Amino acid sequence: MITQINHIGIAVSSLENHIPFYRDMLHLEFLGTDEVAEQKVKVAMFRVGEVQIELLEPTSPESPIAKFIKKKGEGIHHIAYQTDDITGDIRQFISQNIRMIDENPRSGAHDSQIAFLHPKSSGRVLTEICQIKSLRHG
Ligand code: ZN
Repeated sequence: MITQINHIGIAVSSLENHIPFYRDMLHLEFLGTDEVAEQKVKVAMFRVGEVQIELLEPTSPESPIAKFIKKKGEGIHHIAYQTDDITGDIRQFISQNIRMIDENPRSGAHDSQIAFLHPKSSGRVLTEICQIKSLRHG
């Protein structure tokens, strides 16, 4: 079951250029930066309430984020909903003919499990579901 928005991913060409707006103008809590080698991105994370804002900077032209920026420019890349049962949700989506990019959960940042829905099945909004480890049962 989806319980909240976990984070919003925003594609940027330079973390350095965009961190000051979120940290110093919006005064969001800056949680630091991280590199996700598998996705070829560097991430800057901010917290506002229960939601994180994640700025995503490509580290290689092959990164999905680099391709996104090339095609559409900088901007909102995806919305991630938090679930307490990612496997069950994926199974249910597939049974409802939702196209998945990930038919099985894969590892995301901070020990999370994540899966992307196909934008064709989600109104062209790239949609992620994620399950945080501490909430996993059993
Ligand atoms: Zn995400």
